[in-house]
Amino acid sequence: TTSAGGDEKEAVKGYFNSVGFERWNKIYGTTDEISSVQMDIRKGHAVTVDKVLRWITEDGSVKGVSVCDAGCGTGSLSIPLALQGAEVYGSDISSAMADEAARRYEEQSKAEISGRQATPRFEAKDLESLTGSYHTVCCIDVLIHYPPEKMAAMVKHLASLAGDRLILSFAPSTPALLLLKRIGEFFPKGSKATRAYLHKEEAVEAALREAGWKVTKREMTSTRFYYSRLLQAAPATS
Ligand code: SAM
Repeated sequence: TTSAGGDEKEAVKGYFNSVGFERWNKIYGTTDEISSVQMDIRKGHAVTVDKVLRWITEDGSVKGVSVCDAGCGTGSLSIPLALQGAEVYGSDISSAMADEAARRYEEQSKAEISGRQATPRFEAKDLESLTGSYHTVCCIDVLIHYPPEKMAAMVKHLASLAGDRLILSFAPSTPALLLLKRIGEFFPKGSKATRAYLHKEEAVEAALREAGWKVTKREMTSTRFYYSRLLQAAPATS
């Protein structure tokens, strides 16, 4: 694969509309019929989502707060936020993912005693095409699909959509993870259809700084096969 042209994005889209959808829909689902590696990734990802939810809800109710979930996948973050009354807009480059998120919301909101809150809007759209302004923008475990030379522009773009809060996660470029990646343990088997890019934390922070944002919270979740550095940022002037 050549690095990061439009072709690579098309490949990512194709992957997440086909075998990648099958794989990640299972990982982000509830079926027990997954491998131990996939189970490890499911658990790690759930911890990241919990941390994000805690950050977003710790200052009080999310009712009416507008949230953009960029690269929403099957809605792991969008759905609980919408069920708590946030005004959620979730988008994903894969229509299979966006449709699944909408389907899961329908299913889960029926089971909620509190009933429907604000219905989230899910759409097939890539990160580059996002417009509008939101109180909070989240982009969880998506930057792994962006090569380092495109990361800064994407971080700045996401910051331009956010008013008060930006929450980003990425696989950090650390010696340990670089080694794991080299020996093929990180992102094993089926997901080899897409390349996985690690990012230097300093580079992500520099991009945020250039956009006029500062990091206000940091977390790290690592299991055997799942590594996610989580940053929350706010406008530097606030
Ligand atoms: N954020 C979700 C979560 O944490 O549950 C999904 C994470 S999943 C590892 C990565 C997602 O990013 C996939 O659903 C994929 O389709 C999406 N994605 C990859 N490249 C994208 C792009 N350029 N624009 C929008 N979504 C993209």
